[in-house]
Amino acid sequence: MTPLAALLIRRIQASGPLTLADYMADCLMHPQHGYYATRDPFGSAGDFTTAPEISQMFGELLGLCLAQYWLDLGHPPAFTLAELGPGRGTLMADVLRATARVPGFHAAARVHLVETSATLRARQRDTLGNHPATWLDRAEDLPQAPLFLLANEFFDALPIRQFTRAGDGWSETMVGLTDGALSLGRAAPAPLALLEHRLADTATGDIVEICPAAPAILQAIAQRIEAHQGLALILDYGDWISRGDTFQALKAHAFTDPLQAPGEADLTAHVDFAALAAAVPRHAYTTQGALLTALGLPQRSAQLAARLSGAQLTQHLAATRRLTAPEEMGQLFKAIAVFPSLAPLPPGFA
Ligand code: SAH
Repeated sequence: MTPLAALLIRRIQASGPLTLADYMADCLMHPQHGYYATRDPFGSAGDFTTAPEISQMFGELLGLCLAQYWLDLGHPPAFTLAELGPGRGTLMADVLRATARVPGFHAAARVHLVETSATLRARQRDTLGNHPATWLDRAEDLPQAPLFLLANEFFDALPIRQFTRAGDGWSETMVGLTDGALSLGRAAPAPLALLEHRLADTATGDIVEICPAAPAILQAIAQRIEAHQGLALILDYGDWISRGDTFQALKAHAFTDPLQAPGEADLTAHVDFAALAAAVPRHAYTTQGALLTALGLPQRSAQLAARLSGAQLTQHLAATRRLTAPEEMGQLFKAIAVFPSLAPLPPGFA
């Protein structure tokens, strides 16, 4: 049993079952035993691989998208260049490298990284070398200034609550105990104002998930973009409107039982992009494959391929496919852009 499992069992014995959100929050972010708080989970030796770790092209294209839009908006002189949940810092490093020659962009950018894990903050500091950056615990603490922001595989790590429809009520999935071990169960159904709008498109037995922290984060981002200009690009796996059980655990690149080793597996859920969109005045939505292709991934890939041969070339072509092919990440991963009500569509979303 992991130390966190022992702690959670004692808590459930003392005060009853936990929502999935409470369980996820401790598993991922508990200061001593949390998954992100204690390790660097990325890459082939870790538990999962993210797009910026697959290819430098991901950060280059998204960075140039931000920089082009910064120019389109009249290059505001001092702006926040932010990332939510930067992992190893690879995406921001690629963004900074790709935008180094955009006149004035670096001079105006103030890099802010929203990250709660001390282990990963140290890793990000290393990756960014000498580039100055400010670390924050919460998106709500970002400066009141023009905001150009990226978030890749951040929202899937935020705790969710899960409900199963029963008549006009909802029965919440809870983590309780069976014979002293952690087990999943369901609370008695109750009507829920929060899910009133889902009565129209669901039936008894359907499962719906909500991410309670997401709307406030989106509102904080949208408020800054609306008041001071900017652009947020959010990429993640998920779909338009939550439907079905997507709560999952990954360990060593394989799915595992989310209750088996709390604190030692990555826990996620699919992102409900409709819920993100509902929290902002204006958005655009597409797939990762369509966005990267529109931003010039085929051209950039060919340019890099021309300098490669042998195993490196094979790996590069596989990475290109992995980022964009519909049967790989291209279709499962979506992208949403948040931008000012009166501004043009950002590059790649037309
Ligand atoms: N964007 C990176 C890492 C994704 S993993 C990449 O694409 O490789 C999720 C990241 O979000 C980790 O850095 C994790 O520590 C951070 N994180 C998770 N929950 C968080 C929260 N509530 N607040 C701030 N950071 C969080």
